[in-house]
Amino acid sequence: MEFAIWEQALVVVLVLATTTIFALALKPRIELILAGKSDRVRTDDLGRRLWVTFKEVLLQTRVIGGRPVAGAMHAAVFGGFIFFGAETVEHFLKPFGVHFIPPFYKGIVAVWAVLVSIGILGLAYRRFVMVKISPDPKSYSSGFVALLILLLMVTFLYAQADPPAGLAKANWWLHALIIIVFPHLIVRSKHFHILMAPIDIFFRTERLADLKPLNLDIEELEASEEEVTFGLETLADLSWKQRMDFLTCVECKRCTENCPANLAGQELDPRGFILAGRASITDLETDAPAIGNILSETALGQCTTCGACEDNCPVGIEHLQVLMGAKQAQALALGTGMVADDFLKTVELRGNPFEQPASARTKLIEELEIPYFEDGKTDLLMWLGCVWSYNPDNRRSLEAMVQILKASGVSFGVLKEESCSGHHSRRQGEEMQFQTLAEENIERLKAAGAKKMVAPCPHCLHTIGREYGTLDDELELEVMHHSELIEELLSSGKIRLRANGNGKVPATYHDPCYLGRFEDVYDAPRDVIRQAGLKVTEMERHRQRAVCCGGGGAGFARQTEEEGTRVDQMRKNHVKETGAKLLVTGCPECKMMLDAAGG
Ligand code: SF4
Ligand code: SF4
Repeated sequence: MEFAIWEQALVVVLVLATTTIFALALKPRIELILAGKSDRVRTDDLGRRLWVTFKEVLLQTRVIGGRPVAGAMHAAVFGGFIFFGAETVEHFLKPFGVHFIPPFYKGIVAVWAVLVSIGILGLAYRRFVMVKISPDPKSYSSGFVALLILLLMVTFLYAQADPPAGLAKANWWLHALIIIVFPHLIVRSKHFHILMAPIDIFFRTERLADLKPLNLDIEELEASEEEVTFGLETLADLSWKQRMDFLTCVECKRCTENCPANLAGQELDPRGFILAGRASITDLETDAPAIGNILSETALGQCTTCGACEDNCPVGIEHLQVLMGAKQAQALALGTGMVADDFLKTVELRGNPFEQPASARTKLIEELEIPYFEDGKTDLLMWLGCVWSYNPDNRRSLEAMVQILKASGVSFGVLKEESCSGHHSRRQGEEMQFQTLAEENIERLKAAGAKKMVAPCPHCLHTIGREYGTLDDELELEVMHHSELIEELLSSGKIRLRANGNGKVPATYHDPCYLGRFEDVYDAPRDVIRQAGLKVTEMERHRQRAVCCGGGGAGFARQTEEEGTRVDQMRKNHVKETGAKLLVTGCPECKMMLDAAGG
């Protein structure tokens, strides 16, 4: 195919013009991100960050993991972007007589073009025809982009069929013009994620909802020249990563589809607040309040901090940083809007949320003849947590655990005193109370000399194991859940269970969010209950897709009415659908919630 000089000149002008217009459109978006506050270090642990980015971007693991069929189609389309990179460069060099792609690579690209065509048609069908599961059947920009991608594939494949010279030239120009238009759609639509997702994933925290302690040192804060704010009070408090998150959202709705409050018909909509964040930073002044513009007080109060939104997001968005920031602003700056402030007052007064004196715990320890931990003599610290210490409904669980530990011969003991771990105080934004409780407990744990701890409550487990260390790096404590310990004791033969269910008792298992999603402990509790002879039928939503019992974020102490279905009742209905006669869970708080849900 020959190109006249005027055609060559036109190609150069069009490429330069499109690059300039694209750069001009990109600039304000980059400025929106850079206007954010500084954030934690997000370039540490480079190897891990690069590996995660490679896995989730190039291998599309999270995209496929959440929705296998739609994810595979998306992966085919994404693969097209990779394979067509060199092909596109050659396309624009062709008028100047440059050809560098070997025939075998053309063959690979042709096969991939067919896969991309199938993928994009499938995705368009899902979006515009399967309206019940579509993330947005009215997304016309998606329809237009799908059409352009399909045309790109068709024109490429047509060119491989060696058409007559005139048609080949027209086909070349059509392919080139689509490529020239494409970047402008990307930068002005949700397809901006094509550029931003790898960057957002690279900068994402290693752990789900990784909370950084707030600096509450009053003297240091007063001496600071910066304006002091607590949490996400106004848009000016947004960090650059949060702003980047808002602009990166691909609007896929995976977060919303897994949000327990949204599933129960409540107002909270994780995609909605990320998109409201995008609109806010684009349209509003930086002194606009976050609550009311990004999400309402009602929606915020419905969040159980279960982490399902963040865990399911394929582009690295950290929903919990926004939610927790807003909750901190409520508790520390605004003083209104918390859904369980009686809980906070009781913990402040008693050190536990059950309005019990510490002597009730001491009495229980004596009655059950639980030994105290002794430095140098005891191997394992058993953390009781508030529910096992003060809620009589959980006494049988505690008795059983003590029986197991005594039968195993493990040397174990409890602390003389425990305060609430502070998990729910922190999840309500009460960072001051959390840090006070944590410091008390850290001192006790260090003084006891404990190196290994078992906890029944996943909230305590997560908070002590993952968060206390961010307040005091001298605390060295290995933390495990009691189901992991029981599994270990069973496999080492230190205990044997009487399999009294004989595989006949129909049971189901509810995954606690802070054990499963936050700690990745899914198998140990299931192994133990199977060894106890129960016949386990899984709920449709289990393991990573499990939904919260409604108790997270101090939901168990909620004073406000939930609109729509209550989350605990929804989960109880999931249990009933399995036909199970016995519900097993790995969290005393989930047990409390689901027992109380009735039915
Ligand atoms: S943390 Fe859970 S409850 Fe809160 S918005 Fe995310 S999915 Fe919904
Ligand atoms: S926040 Fe993430 S999961 Fe939710 S719609 Fe946006 S991209 Fe999808």
